[in-house]
Amino acid sequence: MRSVATGLILKRKLADFFYTCSRRRVLGRFSSSSFGTVDPRKSNGRGGGEKEVPHLPVLIVGAGPVGLILSILLTKLGVKCSVLEKSVVFSRHPQAHFINNRTMELFRKLDGLAEEIQSLEPPVDLWRRFIYCTSLSGPVFGSVDHMKPQDFDKTVSPISVAHFSQYKLMNLLLQRLEKLGFSVCSPSEIEGSIWDRKILMGHECISIHPTNEGLKVGTSYLKEGKMEEREFHCSILVGSDGARSTVRKLVDIDMKGERNLQRLVSVHFLSKDLGQYLLHERPGMLFFIFNPDAIGVLVAHDLDQGEFVLQIPYYSPQQKIEDFSFKDTFNLIQVCEQIILKLVGWKLVDVQVLDIKPWVMHAEVAEKYVSHNNRVILVGDAAHRFPPAGGFGMNTGIQDAHNLAWKISSMLSGIASPSIIQTYEMERRPIAIYNTSLSVENFRAAMSVPAALGLDPAIANSVHRVINSSLCSILPPSLQKFALEGIFSIGRAQLSELILNENNPLGSLRLSRLKKIFDEGKSLQLQFPAEDLGFCYKEGALVAECGEKIWESEASSVHKRDLKPYIPCAKPGCRLPHMLINALKESSAKASFSTLDLISGDKIEFLLIIAPIKGSYRLARASMMVAKEFDVPLKVCIIWPKGSSDKNVNSSEKELEPWKNFIDVEEAVKPTSKSWWELCQMSSNEVILVRPDEHIAWRTESNSIADDLLELKRVFSLMLGHGKFLL
Ligand SMILES: Cc1cc2nc3c(=O)[nH]c(=O)nc-3n(C[C@H](O)[C@H](O)[C@H](O)COP(=O)(O)OP(=O)(O)OC[C@H]3O[C@@H](n4cnc5c(N)ncnc54)[C@H](O)[C@@H]3O)c2cc1C
Repeated sequence: MRSVATGLILKRKLADFFYTCSRRRVLGRFSSSSFGTVDPRKSNGRGGGEKEVPHLPVLIVGAGPVGLILSILLTKLGVKCSVLEKSVVFSRHPQAHFINNRTMELFRKLDGLAEEIQSLEPPVDLWRRFIYCTSLSGPVFGSVDHMKPQDFDKTVSPISVAHFSQYKLMNLLLQRLEKLGFSVCSPSEIEGSIWDRKILMGHECISIHPTNEGLKVGTSYLKEGKMEEREFHCSILVGSDGARSTVRKLVDIDMKGERNLQRLVSVHFLSKDLGQYLLHERPGMLFFIFNPDAIGVLVAHDLDQGEFVLQIPYYSPQQKIEDFSFKDTFNLIQVCEQIILKLVGWKLVDVQVLDIKPWVMHAEVAEKYVSHNNRVILVGDAAHRFPPAGGFGMNTGIQDAHNLAWKISSMLSGIASPSIIQTYEMERRPIAIYNTSLSVENFRAAMSVPAALGLDPAIANSVHRVINSSLCSILPPSLQKFALEGIFSIGRAQLSELILNENNPLGSLRLSRLKKIFDEGKSLQLQFPAEDLGFCYKEGALVAECGEKIWESEASSVHKRDLKPYIPCAKPGCRLPHMLINALKESSAKASFSTLDLISGDKIEFLLIIAPIKGSYRLARASMMVAKEFDVPLKVCIIWPKGSSDKNVNSSEKELEPWKNFIDVEEAVKPTSKSWWELCQMSSNEVILVRPDEHIAWRTESNSIADDLLELKRVFSLMLGHGKFLL
């Protein structure tokens, strides 16, 4: 029988052999066949095609929030890219406004974007509530506060959620892109030889063809009244072109889920008078208004500036968008003003309608996120579209971009294999599927309020289906519309004060049902801490301990909306938990910072977190050695218990010799708080390896490994997609 030592040497030799082969194969594959003969790392932004076609390592289609964030992240990580945008101007329709905790954490790393949003957003007391009422000046059924004390105490995150309109966010993103050297160009402005760092307005992506060198992307644009076409070559094309994604259709990816949950008209308007009234009388973010004349949801984007969006349900084909938006400006304002008047409860004299936009609510996720040999990738609404209930749409898209950026950068710089792009789909698609069903549950919860008032939307939809049925479709459209509106107005009569009062037995029953919904937290919620900070990847660029599974399969929870708190967790796939720490050996005046700040947003760098104990130092030395072999930047962080600054902490330098890229920190916790290891539910001889996107890739007991170097080669190989490691 072979000795254990001989067995291990043999394993290591096999592993070395496999690793060298797989790395050669991977790099060879990257620079030849599937990735073409053009090496995007050497691209100068010109040539590369059969004729003089601009070549870009990454071309992004769609300059919405997700496309812009991706271009910032890629540029910071050294990847050349440009963005195609079919519109000639950026939309000013506010749409998204709730920025969740995880997105704000990512924004902290974009040159102070989070702090700038906090300085510009309305004060939290003006938007922390959802208000349910008969009109903005009429009786209030309920008022729900969505902020908790822990949202402000920075225990689970260094930052809180925000309320900031999408178009204002876009402006801040464009400012950051300008600082990174981007320019926004109209079709007539873009002749020239430099193609990267451009936002090419008025360019619609119309075709995608694989070539030997990557992808040829066709665009059309209007120049001097004539449609013209321009081609681009790229190694990677990212479709961030929204819910009706052309990229998705061009590469034949289907969506799966529920369609047409609800049709709505979104009216963007200004009224300083309304803003000032609500600011003083009943400040809130969302106002759900139900009365016999109209039903709608008013989103207060900014009370001080009097900026609002009104969402009104509409039923096609009987109701048409033209019913709300006549071409004639006078009529357009009149129709909207009438609806606003019915919901507000008094005549506002300063309403200025800016825009009217129909939209349809779907709950769908793309069947694939990646196609064409890892070259075409979907992000944001192009990959998933959910009901906005809970504000997950843009947030999920921005977090897609964050997951993808370091993977593209690692692949293009040769650190990772092209297959790492597959891990983007493995990690992000399940999150979108989960967030879709959570948003549908939220949407249904929002509908529980009108249902309790006797206005069951399911009944409204059934009535609509009957009117659309073959039986009624023989009626002239005007009669169908009349019938529909007649039935709806009878339904809305349930909301009259005659019925809805404590003295009326039916009204009193409905009001008590409503109170129960609010008291039990069963109405629409704004915050989902367990999903916001606690979402976790189950498979992807993650490594389980040898022979083990990271996650045992769990029975999926039936009720996703059961409000669960965020519980810090340091298993592979989870976001690195936040804790305040102080750097040791730095000036004592230096402020505490978050463990999340140990990861740089400006470069690819992995992080190994250890306690100051022998076995973990040994593993850290081996990690540094293997990282060097893999050309992977790695930093080690040694977390010391609170009070270590008083002692002479100098063992790390000796223990980690000759490696210099390490930092000693101490916990900045209150005496009653948990230590880092307790917070992460780990023993102090465990170590964790954190990826550039702040998610944990691997965790192990430092004293349980037989051969540190062999184990670390396995870890880096698997995490970076260099094939299955032979053991
Ligand atoms: C009423 C409402 C409220 C919402 N509230 C929230 C919220 O509070 N929080 C939240 O997280 N989300 C919210 N959302 C969702 C959020 O608005 C979207 O998820 C977000 O806009 C998606 O961003 P995106 O960049 O993926 O796509 P988009 O914003 O749709 O941008 C796509 C861009 O691609 C361009 N484009 C399309 N086709 C092409 C083409 N062929 N060639 C070139 N360019 C193209 C489009 O012109 C557009 O500029 C809300 C949505 C609605 C409707």
